[in-house]
Amino acid sequence: MSKRILITSLFITLFILLIFAFTSNEVYYSQSEGDMHTRLREQLNTVESVAAQNGALPSAEQIALSLDGAEVTIFTVDGDMEDTTLSVGAETFSSEETATALASENEHFYVCPSVREGHTFVNLSKRIDGKLVMLTGEIISRSRMLATVLPSLGIFILVDVIVCLLFTWLSTTFILRPVKELAMEAIGNNKKIETRHAELKPVVDVINWKNEYVRAAQRSKDEFISNVTHEMNTPLTSIRGFAELIASGSMPKDKMIAAGKTIEAQSERLSAMIKRILNYSAIDDDTVKSYDVDASALTERVLDSYVPMLKDKDLTLLRRIEPGMIVSSTQERLTEILDNLISNAIKYNKQNGKIMVTLAGGVLTVEDTGIGISNEELPHIFSRFYTVDKSHGENVGFGLGLPIVRKLCDRSGWKLSVDSVFGEGTVFKVDFRVAHDKKHRSPSDDKN
Ligand code: ADP
Repeated sequence: MSKRILITSLFITLFILLIFAFTSNEVYYSQSEGDMHTRLREQLNTVESVAAQNGALPSAEQIALSLDGAEVTIFTVDGDMEDTTLSVGAETFSSEETATALASENEHFYVCPSVREGHTFVNLSKRIDGKLVMLTGEIISRSRMLATVLPSLGIFILVDVIVCLLFTWLSTTFILRPVKELAMEAIGNNKKIETRHAELKPVVDVINWKNEYVRAAQRSKDEFISNVTHEMNTPLTSIRGFAELIASGSMPKDKMIAAGKTIEAQSERLSAMIKRILNYSAIDDDTVKSYDVDASALTERVLDSYVPMLKDKDLTLLRRIEPGMIVSSTQERLTEILDNLISNAIKYNKQNGKIMVTLAGGVLTVEDTGIGISNEELPHIFSRFYTVDKSHGENVGFGLGLPIVRKLCDRSGWKLSVDSVFGEGTVFKVDFRVAHDKKHRSPSDDKN
């Protein structure tokens, strides 16, 4: 930051200094050229009046003597040089300039820049007494003038560097101090931070939002770990209990098979739970890009795979699938949603119940005539590890199916809704058309 301030201020001030040096040089040069022009004009007027008084034009040397410092050159009407006092020769003017001057009724002004190093020659000519009289004055050239200014410009640049260094130090110390303080506060503080500087308000807002997000993420993670360990504890205790009994040899032989079956069932439950947990966590790391999925064909396939499971409760499956419905997602995500909703509709259904699956107008509806969910339980069913039946029996789920569905829908911007009448049935809907704001979701939302 300080380096940037230093470079920027140096660049700006150096630019201004150079512009100032060149502009003032130009102003000063124009001034001296103008002064010389005026002086030569006055002298030329004197020559003209002397020539008028005498009735003839004096020689170049006579004219030069009567003037103060100007050199004199006289040309014939044909443009040939007749007489001159010029020490540098005739190079101060060109033959074209002489021709132009001769053709002109009035005086002719011409500046010749490069006859002698560091000098500029200013010529003013006029036709007097049938001849062309040219007066030449010498002024310091632009480059010489600039060269004389350069040493003082160097000193100015040096002073400028020192001033800029000082400015940088001051700005980083005083201007950036609140920013540094804010950074320290943001690192070492768990509370909401505040600022009295209006310019820093947007930064403070972002830091506060970010801190809150991190805190919520931490809380959510802690809660998740505590839930996982709690849920795993039940099957593990059962497995360990039976294993200890078998190992101690105190278990009667006729109970061994039942104990073995319980250990097997609880182990399966454990591994199913771990698979679910991994599935749930994997959603956050899922970076696979969405592509067009034929949701109609996929729904048909998933429903077909569940047909054998309808027999247990003699369930009837009705389906109305609009063909060719395309959803931007992945096969895996859509299958996960369908699997969870359909398996729940089977799991929580009644004997001889019905399941109606509709995919039409961009909306998936899974409706069942099952046990339903009470109004008290309904707000919690999307929370992680929430199960209505808390007995943790073998057939009870882990309470991760619906949170997975919700997470997947949220990430894709789809609207998930549920409607249920206790004892009569439940309807889940996924509206693939609605892309609601998911930018500012906090991790704490995952619990709800
Ligand atoms: P689980 O693995 O327990 O099924 P879910 O997250 O899928 O976990 O469901 C959470 C709870 O919501 C379930 O315990 C169940 O009580 C209730 N639930 C889910 N779907 C239905 C449904 N179709 N009918 C009745 N209750 C349901």
